[in-house]
Amino acid sequence: MFNASLKQLAVQLAEKKISSTELTTEFLRRIKQFNPEYNAFITVNEEISLAQAKAADKMIAVGQAGPLTGIPIAQKDIFCAKGWLTTCGSKMLSNFVSPYDAGVIERFNQAGAINIGKTNMDEFAMGSSNETSYFGIVKNPWDVAAVPGGSSGGAACAVAARLTPAATGTDTGGSIRQPAALCGISGIKPTYGLVSRYGMIAFASSLDQGGPMAKSAEDLALLLNVMTGFDLRDSTSLQRDAEDYAQDLQKPLAGLRIGLPKEYFAEGMSQEVARAIEQALVECRKLGAQTIEVSLPNAPLSIPVYYVLAPAEASSNLSRFDGVRYGYRAPAYSDLADMYRKTRTQGFGAEVKRRILIGTYVLSHGYYDAYYIKAQKLRRLIAQDFAEAYERCDIIMGPTTPTVAFNLGEKSGDPIQMYLSDIYTSAANLTGMPAMSIPIGFGDKNRPIGLHIMGNYFKEAQMLNIAHQYQLVTDWHLKSPV
Ligand code: GLN
Repeated sequence: MFNASLKQLAVQLAEKKISSTELTTEFLRRIKQFNPEYNAFITVNEEISLAQAKAADKMIAVGQAGPLTGIPIAQKDIFCAKGWLTTCGSKMLSNFVSPYDAGVIERFNQAGAINIGKTNMDEFAMGSSNETSYFGIVKNPWDVAAVPGGSSGGAACAVAARLTPAATGTDTGGSIRQPAALCGISGIKPTYGLVSRYGMIAFASSLDQGGPMAKSAEDLALLLNVMTGFDLRDSTSLQRDAEDYAQDLQKPLAGLRIGLPKEYFAEGMSQEVARAIEQALVECRKLGAQTIEVSLPNAPLSIPVYYVLAPAEASSNLSRFDGVRYGYRAPAYSDLADMYRKTRTQGFGAEVKRRILIGTYVLSHGYYDAYYIKAQKLRRLIAQDFAEAYERCDIIMGPTTPTVAFNLGEKSGDPIQMYLSDIYTSAANLTGMPAMSIPIGFGDKNRPIGLHIMGNYFKEAQMLNIAHQYQLVTDWHLKSPV
């Protein structure tokens, strides 16, 4: 049951082999067993989860079940969920019980899915290792000495350790794909604007995008079908016809042109990762695809551009946490200004403060043109590189991360090294294009490796098709650490 696909679970529920209440109880039990060690969840609320399961069982009984009805899904603690503690991994929101549901949560609720708990994450989604959470580090279930990646590290750990059939994540510079790669699961960041950001606590609004994390591409397709859709309450939400992301899963890959950017296959990639990527490409060629070299000359600038723009937007977004309206407030202060200062000093962790400082600096009068405007111009050039590459190929592949999971504590004292974890992933956020990671093997110390599949705008169905065809002939996505 813990290894079952979403489709298999739906069949078992429909055939009454198991009820949602039983399924939910089993996963809650498993969370109880493993969470003390992994710390993948910040909040579990059996009462709400089981009440949802009971309602789902009724829907199933009267024949109103959809593909996700009765199935537990873990929600990243960045999504506001009514009646749930919603912390964003921060002391600042450590007492915040959301009075409303995020657009994504509403969609899962309408689908009859069960919220099985809120997953741990880097504070305000800033990090690549899940070591910045106020609620403690998350461990990689493949090797508890290693980081799970971040910022959706709790989600990746929970799926990998089979504490939930699937989970949500958010990706501002790589936070779905990087932890998916390091934990050996699948995850997709959709085209910007497909998934509602309403009630998804903002980090860098022009880059943030929610998406699913699961064992397989087929599961991701079913989750995307529920998560995507126009939301009037998000001003950047896209108005498009609904799409069935599972519609192309079975298509053969013959004739597919895979672009391999020479900049991504330069130095920087570890040998074990290079080896696994090469093997995955061999598999894709066997399936009928051809590979060609492409060039993304400005892509190596993604990290510096990202680390100007993301902090700039974060410094603005995080100004709302002032101790007045909700969340943490310093217990003692002399006047209003002192209350703001003490609240923010005590409520935010070191990485969040670092981002606010950088962001305020690059937006300041004297430096705005030199940093912020310059970064915006480069952002456009990076997007142009991809547009040109997609005239020659259908899809771009490369590694998701330069190395396998690093050790806990290895990079937490060196922010620049930590920032480089997103060297391959951040470009997709800057362009708004979709990108995903799927497991393709293991490197040193049996730590997982991910293949990065990038596509042009709205190519999710095609990307999922490629990933699914690969997963039909390999079994990396079926492996679990426990
Ligand atoms: N690791 C990147 C950062 O710290 C990306 C985080 C994310 O995608 N949320 O900003």
